[in-house]
Amino acid sequence: MWQRSNTARVHDASGEAVIVCNPSDGGTIQGYLFKRSRKKNKTWKRCWFSTENNQLIYLKSHKEQPVVLFDDLRLCAVKSLDVIDRRFCFELLSVQKCCVLQADSEELKSAWMNAVQGCIDMAYRDQVTDQNTQVKVSSAPVSIPDPPSHPPALGVALSGRGNQHCCDCGEAEPRWASVNLGITMCIECSGIHRSLGVHLSKVRSLTLDSWEPEQLKLLCVLGNEVINGIYEREAADVLQKPSAGSPRQDKEQWIRSKYVEKRFVARHPDGPDADALKLRARQRLYSASVSGDLVAMAEALAEGAEINWNNNEQEGRTALIGSAIGGSLLACEFLLQNGANVNHRDQRGQGALHAAATYGHTGQVCLLLKRGANQYAADEKGNDPLSIAIETAHADIVTLLRMARMNEEMRDSEGFFGSVGDDETFQDIFRDFSNMASHDPEKLTRRPFIRSSEEEQQDEEEKN
Ligand SMILES: [Zn+2]
Repeated sequence: MWQRSNTARVHDASGEAVIVCNPSDGGTIQGYLFKRSRKKNKTWKRCWFSTENNQLIYLKSHKEQPVVLFDDLRLCAVKSLDVIDRRFCFELLSVQKCCVLQADSEELKSAWMNAVQGCIDMAYRDQVTDQNTQVKVSSAPVSIPDPPSHPPALGVALSGRGNQHCCDCGEAEPRWASVNLGITMCIECSGIHRSLGVHLSKVRSLTLDSWEPEQLKLLCVLGNEVINGIYEREAADVLQKPSAGSPRQDKEQWIRSKYVEKRFVARHPDGPDADALKLRARQRLYSASVSGDLVAMAEALAEGAEINWNNNEQEGRTALIGSAIGGSLLACEFLLQNGANVNHRDQRGQGALHAAATYGHTGQVCLLLKRGANQYAADEKGNDPLSIAIETAHADIVTLLRMARMNEEMRDSEGFFGSVGDDETFQDIFRDFSNMASHDPEKLTRRPFIRSSEEEQQDEEEKN
């Protein structure tokens, strides 16, 4: 099992170990590496390593059976380690663990990193050709959905209630949508929506633009019927709703009255009650964001709740921070699409990313990172989201935040990895996390913190 034909051999400095590369089957490689113990003493041991069937295997000694160190390289990332006191080191990270390895020379180190990266890349290519690939994560199999670059966006969007006809004029087969309002519309109305500005309506094509799963879900959970129930509640006797054949200016007048002036939402009595109603809308937005009630959130926004209002009864939190406490991925996305400040901090200096890390909402951590949350933001006690995730023992989130950090460092030193690795690996991993969070959130939120026997042993050592 350790010998292969069709190989290129590279002798290491000592002349003992042999690297065996086989580029024809995805960069299979074997040879000696030093492995740093994850115990407290951090001792280094020289072992024989090999990649086999997307796994990284090593022999502790020639008498023992091979040990699987990483059981699925396609969910791993590989990174050069230049900050520690040894040369030629690199690090492998997976959801469950990270491991530091040392090669005997710079040449061997890059051969290993190339080969492992080749495994990762090959695994992703396999996924695209085999949609039914089962990827083993933790102990439960998870099927990887279609890549989001080719989503059946239109079909999904039209399955929402009322979405088969333009939200504003009723024309059949709409091909456009407003991602923040959660509605579908015809091309003419989409042009009018675009003219309102992105702070009111973010227009996208359902056939030409790419859609993320959570954005499509907004169109289904909200949709034309629900949104018209809110924005046309008082419409009947005020203005005639246009039809598909109405002149453009009629549609324009309707759309401006409906979304800019919000004339048909509900009549806000002027006078002493106006402030009380506004306060009620803000409080409702906050509590609906915590509970993940999308319809109530849309109602509160229509009634004038400001998206970035600080709730001083809740330590200055915004609705977005509330949604990160509550754990609804869709609530989080809905607020972000409607202009929520992803980096707002409460009175304790904590933002939405701190909250998602504290409460173990992996999908939201992923989403917030994608939307530009600052992973380095420290709260009043000096804790950033990563240190909170370590403290609260959420293994997935620790991995995600570490990868985000590596990703940023790699971007800063652009070109450093050459063709070995770039952002794509991390984008793939983020994509898989975010797809899992959308399709199977239980898998992520309920996964226990996995501790290896080495780590348990380390705890024992520290107690003694
Ligand atoms: Zn229309």
